[in-house]
Amino acid sequence: MRECPILYLVVPCYNEQETLPSSAEKLKNKLAELCESKEISANSRIMFVNDGSQDNTWPIIEQLCHENTVFSGINFSKNFGHQSAILAGMMTAKDQADIVVTIDADLQQDIEALNSFIKKYKDGCEIVYGVRNNRETDGAFKKKTALLYYWILKKLGCNIIKNHADYRLMSKRALETLSSYKEVNLFLRGLIPQMGYRSDVVYFDVKEREFGSSKYTLKKMLTLASDGITSLSIQPIRMITALGLVVSLLSFAMMIWSFVDYFVSGAVPGYTTTIIVSLAMGGLTIFSLGIVGEYIGKIYLETKGRPRYIIESVIWNPDENNNKNTSV
Ligand code: UDP
Ligand code: MG
Repeated sequence: MRECPILYLVVPCYNEQETLPSSAEKLKNKLAELCESKEISANSRIMFVNDGSQDNTWPIIEQLCHENTVFSGINFSKNFGHQSAILAGMMTAKDQADIVVTIDADLQQDIEALNSFIKKYKDGCEIVYGVRNNRETDGAFKKKTALLYYWILKKLGCNIIKNHADYRLMSKRALETLSSYKEVNLFLRGLIPQMGYRSDVVYFDVKEREFGSSKYTLKKMLTLASDGITSLSIQPIRMITALGLVVSLLSFAMMIWSFVDYFVSGAVPGYTTTIIVSLAMGGLTIFSLGIVGEYIGKIYLETKGRPRYIIESVIWNPDENNNKNTSV
């Protein structure tokens, strides 16, 4: 099976009507080329996941599926986010596919890297991570915040592959393992390296987005960043404990100092010091409570165990459109 695997390309789509026709054509041609050179099986497919788009993305996917059986589509009941979209695609594809590669709809990630992904799989890897060579396509803000984020994650002791987003190959075996992770707080690029299978990286150049604009709003990016930290590490809570200890020691020292000062100089002016200390402590306490609250919020969501996505309909093949309601 490793010789000529069935490849499923999973493509999350959120308001991608401008990009889709061109990307679908390029993906189809690439798949055909890989089939012709016998690198992958002729049963390989391209699976679009419509993440609750408000534009014509789903009608375009339906049209593509009706024109060519190489395409299939999953339609979410609403927007669940990029991580849920790729998870849904992978979980739906894993029964048919030997390998699944997730790639963004704008094809900013170079599809020519697919040959190297497949080669690494044939060499025995269960997971292959796409790592970007450059960050030239990112604005100054995104570049700086991304680097700061990697730095923070590293300091928190998280095992994450630098400059790897979600362009990645996973084998059936790795996908089966992934399916046993039930967490709602999903940060795949942090979770998958924890599985520990044999893996490797493939480097690729990032291109400019040709059509439309980025669908990752600042809010979505901040949510992903926070999910990443809270799903991978409890260091922030430990840091609060350490901070609390240091502040307690300092307070104790100050108590002794005030006591001595009272007896030595008699008067206690220190109004400014009192205000500064109480304001700083108030700020610190609320901030610390916020961090603890963030974790409690995540525990709350996990215990409810709500579905990570809801599939409204699936198109596998133009002849057998099985509309079904699925949630995972
Ligand atoms: N995406 C998604 N759901 C969302 C936001 C984005 O499925 O809520 C998809 C989007 O359609 C694209 C991928 O995630 O295929 C990456 O988004 P984008 O290219 O806009 O992000 P950027 O490259 O700017 O970081
Ligand atoms: Mg993009």
